[in-house]
Amino acid sequence: MSMITPPSSQTYVEVKDEKQDYGDGIELLKREVAYPLTPPNERVLQEEMDQKKKLEKVVTKPKRKPRMKYRPENGTILNISSYDEDIPILDQDDLIDNEDVSFLHYALKYSRKITCVTGAGISVASGIPDFRSSNGLFQGLKSATSSGSTGKALFDSNVYRDYESTAKFHAMIRQLYELTNESEPTDFHKMLNDISKDGRLLRLYTQNIDCLETDLSDLQTTVPIKSNPPYPPTIQLHGTIKYMYCSKCRWNSTLQPELFEGNEAPACPECTELDEIRILSGKRSQGIGCLRPRIVLYNEFHPDGEHIGQVSTLDLKSKPDCLIIAGTSLKIPGVRKLVRELARSVHAARGCVIWVNVDEPTVSVVDFVEHIDLIVTGDCQNIPKIVDSYDQQINQPKSKKRVKKEVKQDQEQEFVKDETKQSPKIKQTKSIKSSPSTKTTKKQISKPKSKKDTKIQSRLEQLVTKINEAK
Ligand SMILES: [Zn+2]
Repeated sequence: MSMITPPSSQTYVEVKDEKQDYGDGIELLKREVAYPLTPPNERVLQEEMDQKKKLEKVVTKPKRKPRMKYRPENGTILNISSYDEDIPILDQDDLIDNEDVSFLHYALKYSRKITCVTGAGISVASGIPDFRSSNGLFQGLKSATSSGSTGKALFDSNVYRDYESTAKFHAMIRQLYELTNESEPTDFHKMLNDISKDGRLLRLYTQNIDCLETDLSDLQTTVPIKSNPPYPPTIQLHGTIKYMYCSKCRWNSTLQPELFEGNEAPACPECTELDEIRILSGKRSQGIGCLRPRIVLYNEFHPDGEHIGQVSTLDLKSKPDCLIIAGTSLKIPGVRKLVRELARSVHAARGCVIWVNVDEPTVSVVDFVEHIDLIVTGDCQNIPKIVDSYDQQINQPKSKKRVKKEVKQDQEQEFVKDETKQSPKIKQTKSIKSSPSTKTTKKQISKPKSKKDTKIQSRLEQLVTKINEAK
């Protein structure tokens, strides 16, 4: 008597063919295989669902870049010096244009490959003086330099020409090192760090040697700059005050301020050791190099200049969609050239080019760079506040004040309707706010018609006369 045991409810039985070789031929056997729990088709379905979910997560993760609703005319100026942080930004439209703020907000919140070129202006709020401004570090040190020379001479490559200037250079380095150690990154630095944390910063090129940005979690750099990608988020165009190196053997180390005392450049420990070994083994001395801070002086090349060139070439190829030029007047030709190349690349990708500084750029800078969509003048430290305020207001569009304002306007309109005749007075006050006439009063840096335009014009005229002649 045979009994077939039914498969338990928790197993799934599948019948499989199995070939068995008994020596005198192959026999086909039927074999029952018990699978636990879910049948294979259901298992496959579940796996497919899981994978789909995973893919959905990956696909939906990056925020969709919304369509740009407004782009200011090239060279439009937005003055934010009247900004009051106690009043929501949209309620300050009479002095700070809402549309221009919307563009600034769009550029900083939605751009995906932001490049940034910064200067001393972004560090002023932390207490580090702007080297070139009238009350900057140079002015403070003017008395320390010999009569007739400016403080700028303290950053010139010939600071090592004599004992006196070397001693002054050393004093300045120690002072600057101490100052940067006491200073904290500003709100503007933190905003750039947040952008980098978001994965939207392609590169920060800084002319500052204070290391306020590189102290932050997502704006780090490498010293010296690596020769191969991936490159660090921050590139220090003029070096760093936190490092020193040997001008002979290129030995590199964190700066020890106590070494930069007196009127002679400190001797390199690496060279010294190597030289001692040479002399002990009977070889002749090859000399000992001098240590110097890893900052780039005027009339000098960056020790990592070649690698910086590689980084910028790569960035230009990556099609950046935003360029922020902040806290710099672009006086250094090399930096100005970098800005022009980045601005061209960003413009070609229909991105946003924004200038942020206390002062407007000079006409020569505007002409050189060619594309600056928006020139924001005022304190750059207010930029993060303005952008956040705008973000909050558009996400909860109606602040109490605005609701009150609108209710009042509605009531006024109702009143007018009741009167059956619309009062032109009310209409006028309303239209001033939203009328495009405010735009025409907007300041703009005028640019003469480009050479290209006049060329095309004359070419057209030539063609027309040719056609007329042919007739
Ligand atoms: Zn050395």
